[in-house]
Amino acid sequence: MEVPDVPARSSPTGRDAVCPTVAACWICSRPVARFEPYGVPPRIGRCPHCGAKPRSRALHRLVRDRIGPRLAAGDRVLEIGPSRFSTDHVIGSNLFAPARCVAVDVQRQRHHRRLGAWGRFVEASAAMLAFADASFDFILCNNTLPYVREDRRALTEIARCLERDGLAMIDTHRGPGGATRTADAYRREHPGLGEEWFAANGDAWVYGEDFLDRVREAGLEPVEIELFPDHPPDFFTANGLKPRVRALFASRQPAGLHRFFGPGKATHPGIESSLDLNLSVSPLLQRRRNNA
Ligand SMILES: [Zn+2]
Repeated sequence: MEVPDVPARSSPTGRDAVCPTVAACWICSRPVARFEPYGVPPRIGRCPHCGAKPRSRALHRLVRDRIGPRLAAGDRVLEIGPSRFSTDHVIGSNLFAPARCVAVDVQRQRHHRRLGAWGRFVEASAAMLAFADASFDFILCNNTLPYVREDRRALTEIARCLERDGLAMIDTHRGPGGATRTADAYRREHPGLGEEWFAANGDAWVYGEDFLDRVREAGLEPVEIELFPDHPPDFFTANGLKPRVRALFASRQPAGLHRFFGPGKATHPGIESSLDLNLSVSPLLQRRRNNA
């Protein structure tokens, strides 16, 4: 599958405006002089006011500035396994509006009640989605697959339920080098890791780069999008981000990537044009694909 050209910068202006000495949290808008440590092992990046972690802030920004503005009334969004953050700040904050959202999880949790007017909850396994073929324009499956034992079936279901010009975000941690292992095998290899680590990173799979093979076997073409690829180091420090912010997407056809990341206008007037999201397709992933 050919990867369509994606402009290196969707909006080249405003770079200075997003590089303050003291950043404001992208979720709660409060100024943050210093982000807090979080996770195992601890790393800096949690907002001291609202608790949002770096990945959550990046997801919020990506959906608000790019995904939502390219959706239209009548479009449909599926989120598989929404976290409390996503329930409250992504679907619940209407970032996909005017599209309608469905959230699925194996079990209804308390926070799912807060999905709001834009989302409804369906109890379902990621490996058996109770929806017709090509039902969704955008599918969000953010750090969920490491918890799904039947992850290959889940990827096949994502491909089946995605529109031909739809796009899925299937981001997950992938260890550099090394092959995918079950969480049980990883636990035996790393006896020092506590259950807290597996709760935060996945209790079914620990993925290597070969995760991308699973994506392709399901009939999807993976593409990595890098946010803020040209921003100076100060920007990442001030905003409590890792030095590179990347997210993995997949589509059935190049049209899916074009629709959300190609040149073009938002389907409804909004925030997109005023922001410097500054996206690019990861050269690393393109190189891997070309060598394949
Ligand atoms: Zn905050």
